[in-house]
Amino acid sequence: MNKFDVVVIGAGPGGYECASLLAKQGKNVAIVEKNENQIGGTCLNEGCVPAKHYLESATYIAKQSYMQSCGVNTENLSLDINTLKNKKNELIEQLRAGINTKLKKAKVTTIFGTASFESQNSIKVGDETISSDKFVIASGSVHRPHPLLEVDGKQIISSKEVFELQKIPNSVLVVGGGAIGCEFATFFNSIGVEVDIAEFTSQIVPAEDVDVAKGLKRELEKRGISISVDTNVTEFVKNSDSVEITMQTKKGEVKKNYELVLVSIGRAPNTSELNLENADIKSDRDFVLTNENLQTNNPNIYAIGDVITTPALAHSAYNEASVVANNIVNDSTCKALTVIPFVTFCQPQVASVGKNEKMLKAEGIEYTAIKHFYKSSAKAKIKGDDSGFIKLLCDKQNGVILGGTMIGNDTTEHIHQILIAINARLTKDELANMVFAHPTLSESLWEMVK
Ligand code: FAD
Repeated sequence: MNKFDVVVIGAGPGGYECASLLAKQGKNVAIVEKNENQIGGTCLNEGCVPAKHYLESATYIAKQSYMQSCGVNTENLSLDINTLKNKKNELIEQLRAGINTKLKKAKVTTIFGTASFESQNSIKVGDETISSDKFVIASGSVHRPHPLLEVDGKQIISSKEVFELQKIPNSVLVVGGGAIGCEFATFFNSIGVEVDIAEFTSQIVPAEDVDVAKGLKRELEKRGISISVDTNVTEFVKNSDSVEITMQTKKGEVKKNYELVLVSIGRAPNTSELNLENADIKSDRDFVLTNENLQTNNPNIYAIGDVITTPALAHSAYNEASVVANNIVNDSTCKALTVIPFVTFCQPQVASVGKNEKMLKAEGIEYTAIKHFYKSSAKAKIKGDDSGFIKLLCDKQNGVILGGTMIGNDTTEHIHQILIAINARLTKDELANMVFAHPTLSESLWEMVK
């Protein structure tokens, strides 16, 4: 029987980061990954990396008319989806090799197979029993199934199958207007596909403030995406080359045919094969429950990443991985950081950090909101997209920056300026007393507080 100091279950961003940090600090660590081709988890193989690669490529096409207006000859500009797929696979291979090297260098033992708890201090992987003093559950998440639209991988797909498409469809219905739905809507729209979004709640990007969601809806609609909120898919009929969808909207029933239906109504924690009950680990709607220092009800078993209720983002998983590694090595009780940027890579991009207006109101904190539109930014105009705005939320008493949202060009990069300001407890006046370079998108943040 194999025995380790720590066994990490799942080799996504949470798992591989945690395992290598622990091993670097002298622990005898094993990482168990159920799928040999899945080192890097959802993020590398079917999430952040391929999605952003597809989106980046689509932006070259989306810029076509602006480029033409600047005199750039864009004749014959087109996207070959099979070449894009091959390039994406190449990119994933390179990054996966980097993760394998990181694990090897740290002397982590990698075991392939599905882990399931046998007891509080042992798991089963195939026929093998592996025991350990501590465990870290980092088994991530899977596609959340729609109550009606079952994924068949051909006409009805999840985000995972987008990366396997061999042909660009004529029309797509995106069911779910969250971050993933909006990103793929942008991708398909940019490459000339007719795209509709059907969102069940009253706004797309439901976690954002109402004005942000409305601003994004307006911009996506300007680009030709049709968006219906408060909408529920109630029926579907598959034909040979399309799916007929019936939707219940505020205005009544709507029927429409789509070549492809993409279901993106969120992610569900991946605990189905873990046999949590054998280790008496508590969960709620499949989320593993932890305390603030990320221990489950069993103090020797930790959980991180998408499998717990914290934001389902790769950088949140990385942070939790380092907190847990530190807690295990130093027998401490540190908490994960809570100032986490939320990023949606649609066009225009949406990024927010710290408190939003909904949170400040709920917490009874008095604040001032300042808004600045990119329309007045020289750099935004030079880049051919002056859509969107920055909203900064400051403490009403002392001007300390509490949160912010950016919608527009490259805001998934620029949001880190507000992240740093919040962590440094900067006031808006202190920000106004700095010099920002011109012409940049960054100077808009200074413009709005000066
Ligand atoms: P995962 O990455 O899900 O890894 C879990 C691993 O555990 C998997 O490899 C799985 O095979 C393995 N596993 C599961 N059960 C077992 C078991 N019983 N035994 C052994 N192994 C097991 N996040 C961002 O921050 N930015 C983005 O831009 C972004 N874009 C995204 C786009 C899409 C389309 C999707 C789907 C997600 C995106 N995410 C993004 C979310 C991000 O991918 C996740 O937050 C991140 O991957 C979570 O990491 P994790 O380590 O918790 O789990």
